[in-house]
Amino acid sequence: MANVIECGMVTILTLGCRTNQAESDKIGRELQARGVSVFFKLQENCLGGIYVINTCAVTGVAERKSRYEVSKIVKHDKDAKIIVAGCASANNEGQFGALNGFGKNVMRVFGTDKGGIVEYVMELITGGGKYGNYAISCMLYDIHNTSIQIGRGEEESDCDGVDGVKAGVMTDIGVKTRQVFMNVQNGCDNRCTFCIVSTLRGKSVSRPIEEVIEEIRELVYDSSSYQVNRNEKVDEEAIDNEQKWKNANAKLVVITGINLSMYDGGNGRGLVDLCLAVNELGVPFRLSSLYSNVITSAFINDLKKCENFVPMFHLSLQSGSDKVLKSMGRRYTTQEFEEVVELLRDAFVLPVDCTRDDNEKVGMKKFEVTADIIIGFPTEGDEEFRETLDFVKRVNFDNLHVFPYSPRKGTVAALWKQITQSVVKARVEELRQVQANNRIL
Ligand code: SF4
Repeated sequence: MANVIECGMVTILTLGCRTNQAESDKIGRELQARGVSVFFKLQENCLGGIYVINTCAVTGVAERKSRYEVSKIVKHDKDAKIIVAGCASANNEGQFGALNGFGKNVMRVFGTDKGGIVEYVMELITGGGKYGNYAISCMLYDIHNTSIQIGRGEEESDCDGVDGVKAGVMTDIGVKTRQVFMNVQNGCDNRCTFCIVSTLRGKSVSRPIEEVIEEIRELVYDSSSYQVNRNEKVDEEAIDNEQKWKNANAKLVVITGINLSMYDGGNGRGLVDLCLAVNELGVPFRLSSLYSNVITSAFINDLKKCENFVPMFHLSLQSGSDKVLKSMGRRYTTQEFEEVVELLRDAFVLPVDCTRDDNEKVGMKKFEVTADIIIGFPTEGDEEFRETLDFVKRVNFDNLHVFPYSPRKGTVAALWKQITQSVVKARVEELRQVQANNRIL
């Protein structure tokens, strides 16, 4: 068995949304900047380490999986020092404590305010006689198993409050997918009746455009952090700001947030101003999931000016029934949503850039529009479900993330009469089939 100090590792496990992933990535980078070795793979033979587990509470399953990750680490490493953070720990701190047998290993629970984690980890590392010189490993997981992937497409994306990541698949963010997740916004001022995330993360808070640009510049062009983080050689040309991404070993920057439509870059600047500024950096970028109401003709026209923008849109639809959307507290109708998709297709389908080989190099694809849908919401009767099926057939998404509805304590909809699980399961399967047929046609 390898000695922990020889291994020199950090472990960060991340469940759930792109926002969580971006936050974990940032913690990893900050630890690296303090001289801590960071890896993106679990080093099986290293024991006695420190683990940061960034949890998710978007569904009951996500919360269970968060606990499972803690117990898995405890089983794997009985001397593990575990730090738990994220929505599940904010929702119910106690589930990570002594009651579940984690008392000895869980050192501290941070909730959604993750600002102090790096300092705390450093304290553990440098704590001398108190904690010893712990090895740390850094591993990124996507293990949000509650989504069901339908249709074509690779790993996809997340959204406000119901973030879907490919079922049961672990992805090394930024390694295999060659993407950098840039968190620009947190929280949400809406109160959708199914959503606990807006409660756990609080009101919308955004990062100023200048701060975001500076961080992207560092991530993309700073050769040292790039090498340590990714363990791959930097193309010298990528360091040159003048060099366009098509000739560089550039990563795709994914702009993420809990509700990007609420992004406020300061001084009256919004999401589109952020996009224009990111475009100036000459690196490929895309937006993580969007609430459809942010997409207007003016927004699209500005995006079209961004030659480095990757036109892959993930929209949080949630239902194809107006009655259900209204009861969810969503602020759009199916007709408005459909008009948005038409606007996008008119603007972006088969742009010249879509066919260039460079897209392949950074794992890009041509234009696509994908969506999240929740099935089995309490107000979804047979008729409303049929409306959703018809809507999906009509809009013909490139891919769908289907979430069986999961009542979250503390939300309005959790108090309503719930739909039987067998019905939900059958509907999910039917929708899956409809989407699969859509893609064949
Ligand atoms: S828009 Fe609704 S679902 Fe999305 S984070 Fe806000 S409250 Fe949650």
